Amino acid sequence: MFRPLLLGTLLPTLCQALTVSPNAISEALSHADLVADIHVTALQAKPHSERFATFEATAEIESVARGKENLERTSIVIEGLGGEISDRGVIYSGIPRPYREHRYHAHLKVLENGHYSIAGFEEGLKDLSPSRSFTRNRTDGSNGEGVGAFLFWDDSFFPLPYYLSAPSFKGRIEFQDAIDASFKTWRDVQNIRIEFQPMGCSISQRNENDGLNHVILVTDAWSFGDPQIIAITRNFYIAGDSEKSGMILDSDILLNAVNHQFTTTDEAGKNDVQNIVTHEVGHFLGLGHEVAPEDSDATMYAKAVPNELKKRILKDNDLGGIRSAYAGTGSKQSWSGSHCDLSIPSSCLAVHDSQGPMWIFGVALFWLFSMWVGRRLFLLD
Ligand SMILES: [Zn+2]
Repeated sequence: MFRPLLLGTLLPTLCQALTVSPNAISEALSHADLVADIHVTALQAKPHSERFATFEATAEIESVARGKENLERTSIVIEGLGGEISDRGVIYSGIPRPYREHRYHAHLKVLENGHYSIAGFEEGLKDLSPSRSFTRNRTDGSNGEGVGAFLFWDDSFFPLPYYLSAPSFKGRIEFQDAIDASFKTWRDVQNIRIEFQPMGCSISQRNENDGLNHVILVTDAWSFGDPQIIAITRNFYIAGDSEKSGMILDSDILLNAVNHQFTTTDEAGKNDVQNIVTHEVGHFLGLGHEVAPEDSDATMYAKAVPNELKKRILKDNDLGGIRSAYAGTGSKQSWSGSHCDLSIPSSCLAVHDSQGPMWIFGVALFWLFSMWVGRRLFLLD
């Protein structure tokens, strides 16, 4: 059902997060084949490459709200992305993962093999007894449910470097300041340790665990499933039970310019770059989506519409989440922002190289890895 990368690697697996329009979610929910309260009785991780994991959850249907009533008290199998392979874990924030012995109100789509997938992003799998802490992602699932370690950047990574992918932003020089403003919004929160190092541009358009945190404007071949997704952030992290569990190793932000338009000047019908990227930087830092208490004005609220600006400004729940993860006083430097000429991609060959061999490693990966080939899946493939 899930297509693996063409080349496996020994790299950590990943976390993804997304922003979608409200319409995309409601449409997906409306197309569910089965709406039911379910009880997950078994959960199995099924690696399908060294970088990706899928799950198969066995669930008993307790009651059917929409669909075949004769399914009540029968068992079904739900497939999806996410899971852990040895000490590496994978979360797709916004794409929920069920837990054993949890009960859910589920929206499900039937698959060709008779199994089910979850419809409607996080809205499609509502824990009937949710527990969470702010909006932080855990290694064992999205939005703080479960008991896994929270995702976090270790202090040793500060200041967190990030690069703009120059080839992808070519000709969109105005995006640079908007993206920098998004990162700066989070580092400017009082009494937190977060500091970023804007590294300028790089020649890479890849989103791999290459030690380079990238912001990429995807302008052709959106290979992350549903075209309604406006942006995704992918975090590679350490799984398992060690004290390092949850440590983020690499984070990349991808803007879907294939199916959506972006603006820095509030052009009608386009998505404000700073609005969207501020949300994604929250994921970059390990936050999940705003759920409960739900504040639709929060930066980490999962839904966004064109010309929206409110995510530029962090709200109480955003601040609570980020302070719970990074409270303290780190060393701050004077903010200089990114400096690269996005109109001249070749200038980016002089990219900063603070991470030494990892950068070279990243370039090697650029050539070694083939693209993630798209194929129908419920959200991502
Ligand atoms: Zn999101």
